[in-house]
Amino acid sequence: MNIAENLKEVEKRITAAAERSGRRRDDITLVAVTKTHPAEMMNEAIDLGVTDIGENKPQEVRDKYEYVKPVKWHLIGHLQTNKVKYIIDKVCLIHSVDSVKLMDEIERQAMKHDLIMDILIQVNISGEETKSGIRPEELDTLLEHAGALNHVRVTGLMTIAPKTDNPNENILHFDNMRKLFVDRSRIICDNISMQYLSMGMSGDYETAIEHGANMVRVGSAVFGARDYSKM
Ligand SMILES: *Cc1c(COP(=O)(O)O)cnc(C)c1O
Repeated sequence: MNIAENLKEVEKRITAAAERSGRRRDDITLVAVTKTHPAEMMNEAIDLGVTDIGENKPQEVRDKYEYVKPVKWHLIGHLQTNKVKYIIDKVCLIHSVDSVKLMDEIERQAMKHDLIMDILIQVNISGEETKSGIRPEELDTLLEHAGALNHVRVTGLMTIAPKTDNPNENILHFDNMRKLFVDRSRIICDNISMQYLSMGMSGDYETAIEHGANMVRVGSAVFGARDYSKM
């Protein structure tokens, strides 16, 4: 397992997918997903040019934060309201906001720290029962709620597409997300701007980019398979 080689390959594929969809490499943000991996591995990736890292558990952000070189941290996994306080001053973007209750707690904690927290709304676009995220019909209610907050800024949407060996099977979901995203780009509100569409993981990030993603969350393609037994 060679992070440098893997990263080079992922970079090449992101660039190619961006170009196929009429964009440039710089238009896409690679969030390197480092869950279960130690700080040393993260620092190696940062030395190789990774600027954004993603963790899915607040506890892991807390545990590793002081050992990792300066980088932008993203919280990409399910977030319980009672854990917001642990990450509010550490992450640059929370990808997984899926309730008014969570939004209100982020507002409360952000106010306490005198900061404005950027968030994405997580949409369960496939309707899989196991997935978190709101139903597409709930999106406007959440956006309306966010519009009245002072310490939360909605900067886009996120989805976790179904796990599949054939990325083409997720095209419909990616296209549906892009439609939601583009439709809401018309919203004129101080703290809502549809900048980021976060979708695509190791198995389907190229397809996601071709279908509108401008933020991809890639873990195993960069860092190899995860070993949960050591957690
Ligand atoms: C783990 C994880 C990823 C990355 O998964 P890979 O298949 O290893 O690329 C992306 N998004 C979320 C929310 C994750 O939890």
